[in-house]
Amino acid sequence: QKQSSNNSDVIFRSKLPDIYIPNHLPLHDYIFQNISEFASKPCLINGPTGHVYTYSDVHVASRRIAAGFQKLGVNKNDVVMILLSNCPEFVLSFLAASFRGATATAANPFFTPAEIAKQAKASNSKLIVTESRYVDKIKDLQNDGVIIVCTDEEPSPIPEGCLRFTELTQSTEIETVEISSDDVVALPYSSGTTGLPKGVMLTHRGLVTSVAQQVDGDNPNLYFHSDDVILCVLPLFHIYALNSIMLCGLRVGASILIMPKFEINLLLELIQRCKVTVAPMVPPIVLAMAKSPETEKYDLSSIRVVKSGAAPLGKELEDAVSAKFPNAKLGQGYGMTEAGPVLAMSLGFAKEPFPVKSGACGTVVRNAEMKIIDPDTGDSLSKNKPGEICIRGHQIMKGYLNNPAATAETIDKDGWLHTGDIGLIDDDDELFIVDRLKELIKYKGFQVAPAELEALLIGHQDITDVAVVAMKEEAAGEVPVAFVVKSKDSELSEDDVKQFVAKQVVFYKRINKVFFVESIPKAPSGKILRKDLRAKLVNGLVN
Ligand code: AMP
Repeated sequence: QKQSSNNSDVIFRSKLPDIYIPNHLPLHDYIFQNISEFASKPCLINGPTGHVYTYSDVHVASRRIAAGFQKLGVNKNDVVMILLSNCPEFVLSFLAASFRGATATAANPFFTPAEIAKQAKASNSKLIVTESRYVDKIKDLQNDGVIIVCTDEEPSPIPEGCLRFTELTQSTEIETVEISSDDVVALPYSSGTTGLPKGVMLTHRGLVTSVAQQVDGDNPNLYFHSDDVILCVLPLFHIYALNSIMLCGLRVGASILIMPKFEINLLLELIQRCKVTVAPMVPPIVLAMAKSPETEKYDLSSIRVVKSGAAPLGKELEDAVSAKFPNAKLGQGYGMTEAGPVLAMSLGFAKEPFPVKSGACGTVVRNAEMKIIDPDTGDSLSKNKPGEICIRGHQIMKGYLNNPAATAETIDKDGWLHTGDIGLIDDDDELFIVDRLKELIKYKGFQVAPAELEALLIGHQDITDVAVVAMKEEAAGEVPVAFVVKSKDSELSEDDVKQFVAKQVVFYKRINKVFFVESIPKAPSGKILRKDLRAKLVNGLVN
């Protein structure tokens, strides 16, 4: 990482003025600051059951669960893991951790036992909130003293040795904890620009700042407002949904429709029934919506905003979706877990919208600075020149948990977070992402870290060297493919390699294709020349 910060830096800021951000407050106090205005309003709507929690219900329940955590010995700065698909208990557990002064780390419940154990151990999770059906995957952690809480409702039984979530809500005495704005409240995992997944420390200050950048201030309809009904089908274990849907929605007093998974017919029916106004999506969902003939059967005219993020959205797709939702404004957001996560979003959503161009992923958020640097020299670049996107502001991560070296590689001494994304800012301050410098592979918006798959593959006795890179694919955006050097006389087949990985990882990290090669191209430093491998794929030089 090249560093550069001097007076000649070209710094880009939002077209909207900076705002006051009360980021001295703990996240929960900030989120519920205006609750008296909407205490009896629907807050969470459980899509599959139709159960509605008002703002007051959510506030009371999350404080009680915080007291329940306390009773179980979860103390300030302890880590609580949330291993759930989207459901109201996810939200309550997250808020309860915040009230308790604890840290929440969320993981995908479809992870394999090994993937969950890695995150639980690395984060030192003390308690896991999950469902009975996932307990088999985490049983071993109980031997290390980890408490397991199951959200299943009575009368369905829960496994022996586990507690029931509703028991937590019986506690009423909550001890007041002193929370510093620098305390870590969320710990999502991300591989960042290189290497294995790492714990990303997001503080109370960071998340308050990020939420405020999206929904506070004089142009409050910047993203959404209290009359909105917001769809939450993107997984809450990813910071994009947790922050930009859940926390932003709660802050403004909107209603949030929670869906555990993407089932198009149920989704369309609920959009119609609940009169959803804002639909945050990722490109594969946008694609499914754009292509589905089912959409014709429903009245989707309530939708005023369709927002896409987490991966690039092509122009054809933008056009197709605009045709499906003629009343809706379509725009993108650009996020990266380490950036808190939102760096830029479309100003086309604003109450007094700015015109936006197709393909742009927004303009930098307020109260933040962005610069574009030459990746080789570190020099700051002017408008219309592509380079690495860097961001600075209170919203970015505090650092990686227990990993000062990786932190220093990502945040330079002047506080700039280097994204590993290549983009340019045009004459109208709009940001366009044009390439990715970093190793990261994005399958339907999910992170796949090549280093993680390479570490598994190199453990195979017939593999002497390996590199994993991204290959473009229509439905997923990108898929991981492996270049494998097999040992002499080995009869290892493509299928053997795929199976070997598939057994050990969640579905979206599976190897899509294997190319057997003589050697892996490397720089003198030993670094894999991934760009060369990606170029081979693009140019069809492998088979
Ligand atoms: P994550 O930390 O999982 O949110 O992944 C962050 C990465 O996703 C970014 O650094 C980008 O490479 C990619 N990404 C996020 N939003 C967009 C977008 N709107 N367009 C293109 N790539 C995106």
